[in-house]
Amino acid sequence: MKNFRKFWKLGKKEFNTQYYDANSKDELVIREGNYQYNVHDLTKKNKGALEIFMPFVLEQRLGSLLEVFAANIKKYGYKGKFTYHYPMKVNQNKECVLPLVAEGAHLEVGSANELWLVKKLWNEESVHHKFRVLCNGPKTERYIELVKELRDDGMTVIPIIEDVYELETLAGYKGELGLRVNLQSKVKSRWDKKVDRIGLTSQEIMELKPIKNLKVLHYHIGSQIEIADHILVALKEAFGVYVKLREKNPSLDTLNLGGGFAVFYDKKNKYTIETVVPRIIKTLKQLSEKAGIPAPNIIVEWGRYIVAPAQLTIYKIVAEKDIPKATASKWYIINGSFMNDLLDTWAIHQKWQVVPVNCMKAKKRHRVWLAGMSCDSDDRYTASDGYVLLPCLDELGPDEHLYVAFFDTGAYQDAFASHHCLLSSPAKVILQDGMVKVARQRETPEMVGKLFGW
Ligand SMILES: *Cc1c(COP(=O)(O)O)cnc(C)c1O
Repeated sequence: MKNFRKFWKLGKKEFNTQYYDANSKDELVIREGNYQYNVHDLTKKNKGALEIFMPFVLEQRLGSLLEVFAANIKKYGYKGKFTYHYPMKVNQNKECVLPLVAEGAHLEVGSANELWLVKKLWNEESVHHKFRVLCNGPKTERYIELVKELRDDGMTVIPIIEDVYELETLAGYKGELGLRVNLQSKVKSRWDKKVDRIGLTSQEIMELKPIKNLKVLHYHIGSQIEIADHILVALKEAFGVYVKLREKNPSLDTLNLGGGFAVFYDKKNKYTIETVVPRIIKTLKQLSEKAGIPAPNIIVEWGRYIVAPAQLTIYKIVAEKDIPKATASKWYIINGSFMNDLLDTWAIHQKWQVVPVNCMKAKKRHRVWLAGMSCDSDDRYTASDGYVLLPCLDELGPDEHLYVAFFDTGAYQDAFASHHCLLSSPAKVILQDGMVKVARQRETPEMVGKLFGW
């Protein structure tokens, strides 16, 4: 195969694969500036499945997002400010949160336990000055106590009122507050149900008394929004609420668009930050001029977009088996589990880009489905009833094994990871400045048993 780079979609910025290439031995390599990592070598050293995390990818992605906003704010003479808040639930691992904060991210948390980690960062002085945290999620007593403690300690912590009953919980809070609106606009996304529990309807918002120190109007319409226009439709509706809310609450000066910017896992790209950000700035500029109010400060919490491409998950193919009568002709059995390590495969039929780690130029390929090692027939990846093209195993040398990489696995999968059949979680390494650091050893039976009280 001559054009194998193109075939496996490597080295393409639009697919978030600009870090990937193949060497002269047909092995997958990762490039970080002048450093190069051989994925096949890294994988062979490990007995089990492996996750590879790349903080430099996070830094580059957040860096360009900040740049694109700054450039458009300048170009259109937009008067409001932009800040990025990283939603911690997307990936709470330290190796993910620390580089983002160092690169200028603020945070959004969804629970008392996430805020407790922020407290650790704060105490270690790992955050920049002006650092700000938005607090969503169930406002338990412990959560509120921690919010107050951090505020008294000088951190800007902004709880977001997500339901009418939370008005009472947060009454008397001395710091700035936010309010979450549940918009009518429905978007094509991972979350497109008719009824959303979280947020106040615009009707409820109009009936509210003034809220002291109300600073932010927030909405979050879904994850993995498929169509750029829908981002704009929601923005316009939210702006309408913002204008009315501001009449009673002149302290309101920030509009938070929440998350939802998509990662095109299937490499069928529909939009980019370069096309969407100018539309956001232009729309808000026009609308605020028309309404005769100052242009709002802008927050986005695009989590998946920043984090997903920073990790890949590698499996070894340990066996094959024929499939009679299906879109694929072979099962390839992996040394890990989709239900455990990449739960979205099972939960929401997530599609992934799957690429061989070795034998990339193989001439003969099969249409395959991949099966996990748990005893569950649901533990499989069928590319949503399509197939994955992978090298035939007889293309490999006598003692060789085929390894496959699942790209873009950095968002959400770690916190969802589980232990069906008590399988061990993959080991994890971090690539940074040419060094390979082990972040998580492959779990031993003792470690797994302990989780279950043994
Ligand atoms: C989950 C969540 C996000 C992140 O959504 P993505 O789809 O990953 O961008 C942002 N804000 C809030 C409030 C969330 O709950």
